[in-house]
Amino acid sequence: MKQRQRYQRPGTPQRVTRAVTHIRLEATNAGKLAVLDDLAQVYMPLCQQYVTLFCTDEQPNKFRSTCFVTPLSERWHRVAIQQAAGIAQSWRTNRAQAYQDYVDDLLGHQEQRAEGIPEAEAEEPAWREWDVPSLKETCIQANANVVVLEPSADSTFDYWLKISTLVFRQQLLVPVKLADYHRKALEGKTINTSVTLNKRSDEWWLTLSYDEVVPLETEPAAPVVGVDVGIATFLTTSDGQHYGTFHGKLRERQKRDREKRRRKAKLRTCLEKKGVKKLPSTSSKSGQRLARHVRQEINRAVNQCFTEHPDAQFAYEQLSVATMKYKARAMNAYLYASNLAHIPKQLAWNAAKRGRAVTLVKSAYSSQECSVCHYPDRANRPNQQTFCCMVCGYSTHADLNAAINIQHRWGDSELRTCTNQKEVKALLLQRHQAWKKQNGWP
Ligand SMILES: [Zn+2]
Repeated sequence: MKQRQRYQRPGTPQRVTRAVTHIRLEATNAGKLAVLDDLAQVYMPLCQQYVTLFCTDEQPNKFRSTCFVTPLSERWHRVAIQQAAGIAQSWRTNRAQAYQDYVDDLLGHQEQRAEGIPEAEAEEPAWREWDVPSLKETCIQANANVVVLEPSADSTFDYWLKISTLVFRQQLLVPVKLADYHRKALEGKTINTSVTLNKRSDEWWLTLSYDEVVPLETEPAAPVVGVDVGIATFLTTSDGQHYGTFHGKLRERQKRDREKRRRKAKLRTCLEKKGVKKLPSTSSKSGQRLARHVRQEINRAVNQCFTEHPDAQFAYEQLSVATMKYKARAMNAYLYASNLAHIPKQLAWNAAKRGRAVTLVKSAYSSQECSVCHYPDRANRPNQQTFCCMVCGYSTHADLNAAINIQHRWGDSELRTCTNQKEVKALLLQRHQAWKKQNGWP
């Protein structure tokens, strides 16, 4: 079962949409689902046309008047436009975020070069324009105007799915039979009227969903705990607890997997030279298994962190591509970076389903700032694990220092108004000066 979380302002009850997936549409007679195939063959290209339009020439607009010719009905046409607008909107948001990260990255790079740090010899970050998404999988996000789910009077099936087809006024009736665990998940719930139809490996699948409201149970005055996320240690809290790690078993497995891939790549080059046409694939099953295992370990760590802090509210970082790169620096493999992004997502989801308060704070310089005197400097980090302030000499584990900074950043409205890295640094330096003055430094 997949879960999705909608954005909610802090303090309001959180609405959580839960999806019930993998309901197979029975092929009671082959002809029925062939009608659905015909529909998809017209629907997907139309949806793609609007995706391209909304990603290039126009802003996504669910209510845009129709502009392409199609044999689909007016209602189906509208559904395609809505789905396309949703896809284009999330593509545009992600692209904008990535571009902002790139700009920050570039600024950081220039700053380092100005300071004459040899690390800046490294290549200047470059921007590669994103491709417009292409819809490869058959996926139809339908609403009640075109697909209706009706309880079945017949006991052999649970529901009937009434689907409008390419033929005017002709509806397709598909029986839906739930598995026991589907039935259990949906018991007593009001099923949302929009449904998703997917075609995977020649079979049609249905996804249903329902909304659940989880009241926020954290007291407004609950103590704030800062959480630093990383790969060496998945979670470090500002009260000095550590949860989960990539070291040890996971790292051993990763090494073995990398070796295996290297050998395979070698074999490929060798065979290629000899003119062999069909080459062994480089994608690795064990690599996928490992990635899944890492995510399970992350989930376990997040769970434990919530369980061991029953009365706290959490502050955590907005991870940008630049921060992720910095945090995974010692082992800059894509795998690490992608898993790093999974951690904040799990924090947010766990908080939503438990009715716990979590707050995102700015990540800029959180690992370089001294949590005592606010002095921000890359040099405060002699290595990945250690924090040692160049000015006041405060020294501790690097993740703990970051977690304390994150805790302090909760409710820091001055910091929140900063729009870029430069402004954050200026503010931190200003605070550092104030600290020096207060503590009688020259
Ligand atoms: Zn310091």
